[in-house]
Amino acid sequence: MRPAYAHIDLAALRHKYQLAKQFSPNKALAVVKADAYGHGAVQCAQALTDCADGFAVACLEEAIELRSAGIKQPILLLEGFFHADELALCVEHDLWLVIHAHWQIEALTRSPLKQPINCWLKMDSGMHRVGFFPHDFVGAYQRLRQCANVGQVVAMTHLAQADDVQSPAASQQCAVFSQAIKQLGVPTSLSNSAAVLAWPQIVSDWTRPGIMLYGSNPLLKPTEVTQQLKPVMSLQSRIIAVRELPEGEAIGYGARFVTQKASRIGVVAMGYADGYPRHAQDGTPMLVEGHRAGLAGRVSMDMLTVDLTDLPQAGVGSAVELWGKHISVDEVAHCADTISYSMLTNIKRVQKNYLNADLKAE
Ligand SMILES: *Cc1c(COP(=O)(O)O)cnc(C)c1O
Repeated sequence: MRPAYAHIDLAALRHKYQLAKQFSPNKALAVVKADAYGHGAVQCAQALTDCADGFAVACLEEAIELRSAGIKQPILLLEGFFHADELALCVEHDLWLVIHAHWQIEALTRSPLKQPINCWLKMDSGMHRVGFFPHDFVGAYQRLRQCANVGQVVAMTHLAQADDVQSPAASQQCAVFSQAIKQLGVPTSLSNSAAVLAWPQIVSDWTRPGIMLYGSNPLLKPTEVTQQLKPVMSLQSRIIAVRELPEGEAIGYGARFVTQKASRIGVVAMGYADGYPRHAQDGTPMLVEGHRAGLAGRVSMDMLTVDLTDLPQAGVGSAVELWGKHISVDEVAHCADTISYSMLTNIKRVQKNYLNADLKAE
């Protein structure tokens, strides 16, 4: 078997959910969209069933996958529904819907449904993707409230710059939101991971932590708190070949890396087809035999190359951590000019190996 694995520590996931709850004492939807950011939505949701207040996914298909696996908690569809013909299934599977557009309220009003659906009415308080403008929000709320197919309503919004603790943007969006809903007396939901950790003054009934559950730092700069975010995924493989090369030899596609002296180059069974970022630059760290070593040359589809010149103890069969406990996914993301979200959700082909599936929440 190809020795490429993503080890997923479900105890670390549970610990991160508890951490999110420490920061926000109210309820928290664990965001498990995009296959739990590449970690496996069913396994992650099952690991959280005894503690999570609910889950959030992007769409109906992702929710049905969880329901089919026996997940009983509330599940919110963050993009709501795309067509009225999904509503019957939303009722059947007891799903909650984000409502962000007038046509959705009309569709809800017109559809004959067996049960009312709980709705999260989304406000565009400044991010300008989806949602009702603040001046339109009360009207949308009243129309939704009058609709017999609607059960409980939560007012929600999403923050565009909560990761930047210097920026006033999060507070401004929060103020716009609070002002627009102040007459309504509805439950609220504002915070993503960054807001949970960096903006404790933003209090709402439901938080929506995602990336922090997987142990990546949601803030632009690490803080004391984000140091506590131990990773859930450890991406590992092994050295499958070693080359001894003289000075001046080029390695891999495009000859990007050229040896500056006599060098030992290791080949790792890991490539961009596994989700390792192709744009990782030379020197991107990985852990080989417990020591940091640097990427040397362009990442290929199935392989990448690492400079082992200073690691004579490393050879064929040596274990390599591409990211995990020792090499943070955030550091690798930085070296590849991307973000952990993109890298984690991109993981494929590698065997997923679940650890601590049976432990209860600590
Ligand atoms: C994805 C998403 C989240 C989670 O964001 P993180 O940055 O991963 O914590 C929260 N709310 C909404 C609406 C989302 O789409």
